[in-house]
Amino acid sequence: MSNERPLPILTDHNRPFWQAAAEHRLVMPSCNACAKLFYPIGPVCPDCFSQDLGWKQVSGRGKISSFVVYRQAFFAFFKDKLPYAVAQIELDEGPRYSANVLGVDPAQLHIGMEVEVSFERVSDEVTLPQFQPRFAAALQAVDAQ
Ligand SMILES: [Zn+2]
Repeated sequence: MSNERPLPILTDHNRPFWQAAAEHRLVMPSCNACAKLFYPIGPVCPDCFSQDLGWKQVSGRGKISSFVVYRQAFFAFFKDKLPYAVAQIELDEGPRYSANVLGVDPAQLHIGMEVEVSFERVSDEVTLPQFQPRFAAALQAVDAQ
């Protein structure tokens, strides 16, 4: 079992997403025909099947709609991270995005918890959008002043 962190593979389809993340911006695919934002990234709008797609920046705010706490590492990289949480975040703009929730004891997580995006740079190419409780983001902003 490799100790390396499993990372997304960049393609022509998803590169704009990862480029934005490297600039600490969260973007979602958007449909130019029906104006809907969606995720995951795909070749057509899941709503109207248009191939006329673009990208829109979102607020990075949302609520936990589902989550799981891992107590077993399926990749060696995560062995010393246990327990850790993976949550599905329903963004204020609608799409649901899955990420780790950092800066909080996984036992404190609950459905409906307000969270905000933060960015974790893991390689030259990949900066992962992660999430943290919204109050933690507010505290960090105060600390930074
Ligand atoms: Zn559409």
